[in-house]
Amino acid sequence: MSERQPIDDEPVEYDREDVSVLVVGAGAAGARAAIELAQRGVDDVLVLGKRDHGDAHTTWARGGINGALGTHDPEDSPAIHAADTLNEGHFVNDSAKVETVTEQMPERLRELDEWGMEYSRTEDGEIDQRFFGAQSFRRTAFAGDHTGESMLKALVDRARELSVPYRENVMITKLVSDGDAAYGAVGYDMDTGEFVLFNAGTVVLAAGGHAAVYDRHTSRDDENNGDGAALAYDAGASLMDMEFMQFHPTGMAVDESDPEWEPWSGRLVTEAVRGEGGRLFNAEGERFMERYSPDQMELDARDVVARAIAQEVAEGRGTENGGVYLDISHRDADFIRERLPRMYERFQDLGVDMAEAPVEVAPTSHYGMGGVAVDDHGETDVDGLFAVGETMAGVHGANRLGGNSLAETVAYGVVAGERVADRVDGPGTVPDELRESLVEPHLRDLRAMANRDGEHDVDAALADLRELMWDHAGILRDEASLREGLDRLADVRERVADLRVGPVTSESFEFAVDLGFMTAAAEAVLRGALEREESRGAHYRTDFPDVDADWRRNVYFEAADVGGMRLRTEPVDEPSEAVQAALDEGHELDYHQLE
Ligand SMILES: Cc1cc2nc3c(=O)[nH]c(=O)nc-3n(C[C@H](O)[C@H](O)[C@H](O)COP(=O)(O)OP(=O)(O)OC[C@H]3O[C@@H](n4cnc5c(N)ncnc54)[C@H](O)[C@@H]3O)c2cc1C
Repeated sequence: MSERQPIDDEPVEYDREDVSVLVVGAGAAGARAAIELAQRGVDDVLVLGKRDHGDAHTTWARGGINGALGTHDPEDSPAIHAADTLNEGHFVNDSAKVETVTEQMPERLRELDEWGMEYSRTEDGEIDQRFFGAQSFRRTAFAGDHTGESMLKALVDRARELSVPYRENVMITKLVSDGDAAYGAVGYDMDTGEFVLFNAGTVVLAAGGHAAVYDRHTSRDDENNGDGAALAYDAGASLMDMEFMQFHPTGMAVDESDPEWEPWSGRLVTEAVRGEGGRLFNAEGERFMERYSPDQMELDARDVVARAIAQEVAEGRGTENGGVYLDISHRDADFIRERLPRMYERFQDLGVDMAEAPVEVAPTSHYGMGGVAVDDHGETDVDGLFAVGETMAGVHGANRLGGNSLAETVAYGVVAGERVADRVDGPGTVPDELRESLVEPHLRDLRAMANRDGEHDVDAALADLRELMWDHAGILRDEASLREGLDRLADVRERVADLRVGPVTSESFEFAVDLGFMTAAAEAVLRGALEREESRGAHYRTDFPDVDADWRRNVYFEAADVGGMRLRTEPVDEPSEAVQAALDEGHELDYHQLE
């Protein structure tokens, strides 16, 4: 009798689905891309997400979405919106992409209105607009404090009306690509555990961002782990701007050993608390913003306030939980309850009355400005692979203007949808050679990972990865610490190769897949931060504390032929004449920040 073959050589079973266009991700960006395709008559589309239909991170966006509608300020324009975006992005944004977004936004906001988004309105019934951080005019449209939820509902309803096919609870684990062109994607059904190969002529990645590679973050649990960036990078596409992470100044700083408080660590404490008069104090009772920003104080830009808090904590003037105090107790209880109802309620439930006592806050990872490098139509340098929404890079530069990420989702959803619709020519076919050399070995690896009794715990590896990112690629960075971070990452990677994992349908299996994505995204953040020897926007190097004009460049990350990550830089293009004129006009920025 012949000896039993090692399990890895056994045939692997998988379902196949053939579609012309596969949209990976069903937040605002994926939904809008699919709607555009359907409206242009492309019906052989499949949208999938790793959660239930309508349940994506987009629902957590609260504050608003930007567009120069001019409801209150008719002098506002897309060019001034673009100028504000470049200013806040410290002039390393891709200005053509910025303009693509800002020019479209008035129309995109109106169509969302037609599709049922429940905007807050003026007395005349117009779409209301308010100030948001660092904007020259009131251009942030909103739906109370549930903008993202209302927006995604309108998009999902519209997609349903157009009968866009949707498959929920499918996790994509790899794209099928030979490095030059994409042919589809592979993943598994999270309910049944079945593996699936999607043959697709075009893949649109709309899989969200990577802010949750940090310990303290504002993202929903198990989202924003860098799936989009890592999938594209693995398929041969370049990433860019990964060193730029936006740290929101006020996340909840909690005692993580207390089970009641622990789940709240890093959760956003809205800027409206500062907007309504909240003051920041260190553990010594000093209103420390006087030293960092005597004019703007607590209302200065996100990166400035976040850095000030980090500095206070680093110099030993922080609270026991590694934060500072945010105090609005000088305001009336009624005022606080009326203006900050959700915040008041949240802290009240945890036993803190904001009208009586300060709350503890610390910076928290909020948004990755970087992501997949795309051309003006949202296409990557892999033919047939597009990236949109938070997965793509280029619009936000070194710091994102609040309200611009929701704008980017719908604007680039349309741009990519248009482009794909022009080119689509039937379902894709994965070449036999790629099926044998890439798809099946990958699925065998997944099968081998399921039920593996490895040495290391998935949750512990995840926690260590997030902690090292916080320790080494946080707000205050320097060469020695970034190098140490890369060493610690190598150690986590070794453990990831030998994890203890449950069946394919288990949470530990999903997290083990996530760890693969997260280590790739984390490596790019660390390497990019090491490469950029200057400080700009959200990226601050204590060993290079100044802006360096020679660094008006973007860092790109690509997989080298033989292992490793290769970095290159390219200079930034100049803005158009119209945007330059708006910049030259020097509009006054308003520093109300309400996200
Ligand atoms: C607390 C908070 C508040 C915010 N408030 C605002 C705001 O007021 N204004 C603003 O402009 N921006 C805001 N943002 C940012 C904004 O919400 C996001 O940038 C935006 O919603 C991203 O949309 P998206 O469609 O690109 O991705 P998401 O909404 O994150 O959707 C990603 C989709 O991809 C799917 N997916 C991911 N990985 C996989 C995989 N491997 N396989 C299959 N499917 C996958 C997910 O299931 C999901 O369907 C906020 C962010 C946070 C964290």
